[in-house]
Amino acid sequence: MTTDTFTTSPVASQPSLVVLSRPNSTDTEVPRWLGQSVARAAKTRCPKWQGLCLVNLQSRLAFEVSCQRWDCPHCVQVKAAVARWMIERGMRSARALDQRVRFITLTLGARGGSVGDLSAAWNRLRLKLVRERRLRAYVAVVELQRRGAPHMHVIATGAFIGQRKLSFWAQQAGFGPIVDIREVEDNEAVARYGAKMARYMTKESAKALRASRTGLATRIRPVRSSRNWYKGGLRAAERDYLAGRRKHLGTKKPTGRWIMVFRKRDGDVAVLGGLDRQALASPS
Ligand SMILES: [Zn+2]
Repeated sequence: MTTDTFTTSPVASQPSLVVLSRPNSTDTEVPRWLGQSVARAAKTRCPKWQGLCLVNLQSRLAFEVSCQRWDCPHCVQVKAAVARWMIERGMRSARALDQRVRFITLTLGARGGSVGDLSAAWNRLRLKLVRERRLRAYVAVVELQRRGAPHMHVIATGAFIGQRKLSFWAQQAGFGPIVDIREVEDNEAVARYGAKMARYMTKESAKALRASRTGLATRIRPVRSSRNWYKGGLRAAERDYLAGRRKHLGTKKPTGRWIMVFRKRDGDVAVLGGLDRQALASPS
């Protein structure tokens, strides 16, 4: 595939595909800087990288965009690090409010079952706990295993619940009889359980997801939380975590517009999304 001209969509809101020339093209119609930026893009370690890059129109810096899937051996590490940060923050703020913080392991018992069954049982138990005023916020992780039934690990904050009562309610909701409940008693325990939760999301889950061939399994998101665990959920946590990292490293967030481009194998660059020629020619 060689050079095309700038063909933008007649409807501005309609995404269009603009195919630009090769990076070394001498065609004056084409902003060569874009091809050059993309050729020098900061590399991602994601093994599933498919050629997507983000380019800042102001700084002209480009970054390869990782796949950000839970079943990717690289991206899962990044996602789990963010989730762990979010989980630990929630535990610390609950402790600051003198809430109980507990780590609960739930299984479907001898019958076994699917992730969907676990999820449905948790929905029932969660509603019961809320009705009984024993649950304030929660974050739950599904531990997938290649063999055997999946487990659910929940960090729940709120009032005290006795083990026997919780076990009874859990069975009513559809879980198995064995319920493990641990108090997260200090900051050292917060870090320990944060790490534990992250581990469930990474090693075994990624392996199990890769091993699974069903379409359903690849869409599983191994972590979920109540709305009040972290405002905006994991997506907001990702943004805040990155901002925190930047602050820590003393770097500023690049300003100006970003475009998403696709770098093809032959070196051609395609701009994804509706962009006019002016925006590319004179970045602002
Ligand atoms: Zn990836």
